[in-house]
Amino acid sequence: MSDKTIFSKIITGEIPATKVYEDDIVLAFLDINPSNQGHTLVIPKEPSTDVTETDPDILLHIMTIGQKIAKAQRKALGATGNNLIFNCGADGGQEVFHTHLHVVPRFSDDQVFQPPKHTSYEAGEADIVADQLKKAL
Ligand code: AMP
Repeated sequence: MSDKTIFSKIITGEIPATKVYEDDIVLAFLDINPSNQGHTLVIPKEPSTDVTETDPDILLHIMTIGQKIAKAQRKALGATGNNLIFNCGADGGQEVFHTHLHVVPRFSDDQVFQPPKHTSYEAGEADIVADQLKKAL
């Protein structure tokens, strides 16, 4: 990564953030424009553009902390559900190109997200798509 993102500036303290958790590998802070109050972002201190570029060990730690934050949202904020989401690439809805996990607390009927679009497979198509993916793994 070349250009410093807003999240790198949060790590260095150039931009303020409301921190929730910090260790040597990750920083977690409140999203400035939350889907619900308590919406938290978990970012690696070592910058990577998106989740496809993140070191798997660091990714594991991001998820471990994300799980803790999800549990804290239930315990402290009364959340009855959560979404843990990586937007990946501009077409995946990513706006800040420093890997981040959204941990969103959810409540009954909060209508945070629209129902997703669904598509379907013609006969035999699912096997073809699965084979393409298997070959690329
Ligand atoms: P994404 O669309 O997945 O790239 O999400 C980027 C998220 O970063 C959005 O939810 C923004 O509200 C959030 N965000 C942008 N700037 C800041 C900031 N300075 N502090 C906290 N969250 C931010």
